[in-house]
Amino acid sequence: MYYTKFKTHLCDIYLAGDHDGLKHLHMQTGQGKRTFDLLDSWEKNDTFFSKEKAQIIEYTQGKRKTFDIKLNPEGTEFQKKVWAMLKTVPYGTAVSYKDIAIKIGKPTASRAVGMANGKNPLPVIVPCHRVVGSNDTLTGFAHGLEVKKEMLQLEKLNLVYKKLLDFYQIQYWWPADTPYEMMVGAVLTQNTTWENVKKALNNFDGKLSPEFVEKVALQDLTKLIRPSGYYNQKAIKLKELTRWYKKYNYNIESARKIDQDVMRTELLNIKGVGRETADCILVYALNKPSFVIDTYTKRLVHRLGIDVPKSYDALRIVFEKSVPKSLEVYNEFHGLIVKHAKTHCLKSVQCEGCPLDEICPKREL
Ligand code: SF4
Repeated sequence: MYYTKFKTHLCDIYLAGDHDGLKHLHMQTGQGKRTFDLLDSWEKNDTFFSKEKAQIIEYTQGKRKTFDIKLNPEGTEFQKKVWAMLKTVPYGTAVSYKDIAIKIGKPTASRAVGMANGKNPLPVIVPCHRVVGSNDTLTGFAHGLEVKKEMLQLEKLNLVYKKLLDFYQIQYWWPADTPYEMMVGAVLTQNTTWENVKKALNNFDGKLSPEFVEKVALQDLTKLIRPSGYYNQKAIKLKELTRWYKKYNYNIESARKIDQDVMRTELLNIKGVGRETADCILVYALNKPSFVIDTYTKRLVHRLGIDVPKSYDALRIVFEKSVPKSLEVYNEFHGLIVKHAKTHCLKSVQCEGCPLDEICPKREL
């Protein structure tokens, strides 16, 4: 038998198997009850598992929903029946032990199903993490609850993205004609509606440019952006933002050359630029994949039954670890969330006709 070990952002993973198929997938999380012993007779062979490794890494990056891997798990006939049924549970969804028991024709065998689930030697590929308690509680996972939660979140967010994209189609965000207008819009939209931002932008009458904002008197700038509210503070913020941009000679390509983390820190050091504004500018003006979190995102994620971490950056990292790290996806996903929050998932929800209805537990705010 051969084995290999590799890293993923979820945990280190061991694979073991031979030409008859994969026998073990061990998640080295340091949690849970499952232990894994490498036998002396096994031979390390990384190339033998290159296809399996590639597919598993794609899954952890949100790029793969199903596997095409030959499996050869050892177990009783009953366990094999349960594992085969687990493979039919769709990506991004969850079922109960009872659901599986009913599906295999043994409706009173929930407990035995739970035990077979716990013995699954090929987690991730045979998705035992998609089995939860009857009231949607996480319940046990041989490799620890934390990694089970991460996998369920990863799948749900990717499924949400697909469903929103299918339903609303591409949003072509951000609504602006130039990168500088985008940056100005990101500041003006703080604590107000986009309708008010549009009125403020229209007041520039085609003259909006960094050169104009640099030279215009603060008082006059205040008048122009009045419809966006908080105009005294926002005028100062625009002046500061423009001062920062001058460092790059108002040349967006020069700014785009800067490393993403360095640029995020620079933006956060501008007076009046918070995390949400900084991430908007990173994605929509500077072409850097940084996931934008706003009130709409927090509201949607909460209603979908995902625990919203307290800090902005913690939720941003949940998204960045779950969905494919791609400018296109980050750009589009945020635009879709905004669209959805204004169409169905409003403060006062309109669940009828919602594309996420089937997968949303509609958790109360
Ligand atoms: S089903 Fe209702 S609560 Fe859930 S996402 Fe849709 S609108 Fe929001």
